[in-house]
Amino acid sequence: MPRAVVVASINVDITVTVARIPAVGETILGTSVQESRGGKGANQAVALARLGTSVAVIGSVGEGAAGDDYRNDLASEGIDVSHVSSAHGVATGTALITVADDGDNNIVVVPAANAELSVARIEAATHLFPSADVVVAQFEVPLESTAAAFRRAREEGAVTVLNPAPAHEDGASLLDLTDVLVPNELEFEQLTGVAPTDDDALREACAPLFSRGVAWVVVTLGGDGVALVGPDTLRRIPAKRVVAVDTTAAGDSFIAGLSSVIAAEKDAGGDALSETTLRRACEYATTVASITVQGAGAQPSLPFAKDIA
Ligand code: ADP
Repeated sequence: MPRAVVVASINVDITVTVARIPAVGETILGTSVQESRGGKGANQAVALARLGTSVAVIGSVGEGAAGDDYRNDLASEGIDVSHVSSAHGVATGTALITVADDGDNNIVVVPAANAELSVARIEAATHLFPSADVVVAQFEVPLESTAAAFRRAREEGAVTVLNPAPAHEDGASLLDLTDVLVPNELEFEQLTGVAPTDDDALREACAPLFSRGVAWVVVTLGGDGVALVGPDTLRRIPAKRVVAVDTTAAGDSFIAGLSSVIAAEKDAGGDALSETTLRRACEYATTVASITVQGAGAQPSLPFAKDIA
């Protein structure tokens, strides 16, 4: 089976709905509260597992029931959680999301245990890397830990996939270790300083990324699909025409779909970074994400391989 290692953020999302966003210092009554599984890395790992890739997560949860329950849920998806550690005296990463009737929202993310995912934890898990086809990371865990994981991935010949989200001021420091960079529109602009408005802007903004050693840039553009950009190529792959009810985790499921095809090609001994592979990966990932946006919530809407067929 192709194999992925995800250096993953793990968050509990607590969403409350309110008639309107409260003013500073004000207390109001909410209308509902819901707790769900989130964290970009955990979403990506669950999606990869459901698509049939063998996944190991390197991550950190808080000590206590919330963290233990989350780890058990990941294990029940078939994910190797032997390197999901419990951070002593710290809570599991938490996102507090307030959504008003008119759609306005505000979000506070507390990294908590995610911030405890140290370089030492990556080093303790290095035995996972020799059999990895692909190593996936985001910016919700310490950058130096992701760098350590990507360095190790490179040594072992695995493909590195970076989702530079949420934007990080030192994010560019990881480019030298990244094979496939997958930002959304906003993250692309934050990383390059250029909005991906047209093909010329994309080509120009990607040139310095290729000089740093990135092989492919895949810019996700929501309902407008993706732009697949290589040093000598630019292709647009349209999104599927579907009725989107909730785009939460669209990008996470896209990254999982993309990484699963790259991992399968690598596992089969093919050229995992050829243009043919990347085009196929983008098309598959587009289908995966189109199913995700048709369901509510993050992990509940992540599809299984059978749904794609
Ligand atoms: P993120 O969730 O990271 O902001 P995007 O919004 O760019 O990422 O979405 C990722 C992918 O999900 C898109 O490239 C597209 O394939 C798919 N997608 C997102 N929104 C829609 C939509 N309204 N209809 C169909 N597919 C969508």
